Amino acid sequence: MSLLKKNEQVILIEKNDCLGGTSTAGGVNTWEPGVAGNGVHYHLAANLIMNKQAGIGKTVKTVSADTPYAYSGIVTDSCYEDTLRRSGKEQDEFRRFHFEPEAMASLMYSFLKSHKNLIIMFLTEVTEVMTSRDRVTGVIVRHHPDQQEYEIEADYFADCTGDIILARKAGCQYSQGEDSFKMYHEKSAPLEPSLLVNGVTKMFRCTKTDTKRNYKMPMEYINENTRNWMKNIYAKKIVSVINEYPNGDLNINLLPTMDGYDYFDLPDSDREYFLLSRTYAYFEFLSSMKAFEPYRISKIFQETGIRESYRLVGRYVLKEQDIISSRFKEHVLCYADHALDTHGKTNIKGHRAVELSEPYGIPEDCIRTNEYDNLVVASRGASFSHIAASSCRLSRTMIALGEGGAKVLYSMAENRV
Ligand SMILES: Cc1cc2nc3c(=O)[nH]c(=O)nc-3n(C[C@H](O)[C@H](O)[C@H](O)COP(=O)(O)OP(=O)(O)OC[C@H]3O[C@@H](n4cnc5c(N)ncnc54)[C@H](O)[C@@H]3O)c2cc1C
Repeated sequence: MSLLKKNEQVILIEKNDCLGGTSTAGGVNTWEPGVAGNGVHYHLAANLIMNKQAGIGKTVKTVSADTPYAYSGIVTDSCYEDTLRRSGKEQDEFRRFHFEPEAMASLMYSFLKSHKNLIIMFLTEVTEVMTSRDRVTGVIVRHHPDQQEYEIEADYFADCTGDIILARKAGCQYSQGEDSFKMYHEKSAPLEPSLLVNGVTKMFRCTKTDTKRNYKMPMEYINENTRNWMKNIYAKKIVSVINEYPNGDLNINLLPTMDGYDYFDLPDSDREYFLLSRTYAYFEFLSSMKAFEPYRISKIFQETGIRESYRLVGRYVLKEQDIISSRFKEHVLCYADHALDTHGKTNIKGHRAVELSEPYGIPEDCIRTNEYDNLVVASRGASFSHIAASSCRLSRTMIALGEGGAKVLYSMAENRV
């Protein structure tokens, strides 16, 4: 094992071969409408729009008896600023940002690599964490291509993994699933806790072809489980959101491909098979409609789209009532205003995309742990209740949360916390 000790340097450890996580490798290639602050998103958006690698999307078809999907097409009469608000707007005013994932990932990389004190380690995974009393002191990482392990010491740590790997390995308190009403007194919370989590989606991309044949799913993916699940599709209990790429390809987001609980309950070895089986079966259904006949799947994103897994129980847990009342307005890390939005099986009362009337703030204590002074958790797994997480988790909010988290770490460093 080699020892890397880098003073005054930042080391970014990423298990994929690109930056962006779910929003690139996971195929979630749309920023939903929402407030996003003054951060790096502006520069990313401006650059991608200028290079025709992104566009502004607007819902041009909503789910109806004839269309079991919503369709967001690229429009030319709106600008990026129109995407920066959701709360208090009518649905037909919503605008989204659709982008090419490879272009986004490489732009993120070129922005970061201009910082001379930053080392980026791709295909490298955090496997162990070292701690001493109230401090994280180091991590062990494995570089996958050569299986080389490194021990990295540092003064400050940010856990930006969706599954809060570092925080959990360090023994921080965390929760999973639905919180009971008794836990946080949220008005929509169920009486009993459960392990139900927001649904999981295998995102995929389709490209127009000149084929004349009907699409048939691969034989080896036909099974009873998928056949039964397809009844929800025919009954329109499960629908999809289809977003157009700048080149006319389609990005398909099933809401969802699998209930979150069922996904986590399956053995690792079966998850991919059943997700792919449902994806192919859904596409067979979709392509039986006139509008999609010429399309074919051009990419199924390798990284599975997980909306929710583990959540830190940190110095403050953001709750439904904090969001509805917009309790935190000043001295916050960032703002958000996405609807409270859960997909798949849920016990939450009356819950389906509850829109907000104004933005709310996320306070610093949502990324601080009770256990360690030099660790922040800046991801969808930060200290949110299950209901609050269903709103906070959006891509641009996570970028802003990360930027807020970096400022917290710098101020710790300045004050030698
Ligand atoms: C199906 C789906 C659809 C969605 N739709 C939208 C949408 O339309 N618009 C929107 O704005 N948001 C949407 N969201 C929400 C949003 O995309 C995610 O919540 C958000 O991208 C999560 O970001 P994150 O940084 O918290 O986590 P992630 O995106 O998971 O990033 C975590 C990073 O950590 C890395 N990592 C993980 N483990 C390790 C390890 N051990 N060592 C090193 N690195 C590691 C991962 O490779 C990844 O790059 C959707 C989410 C899903 C799942």
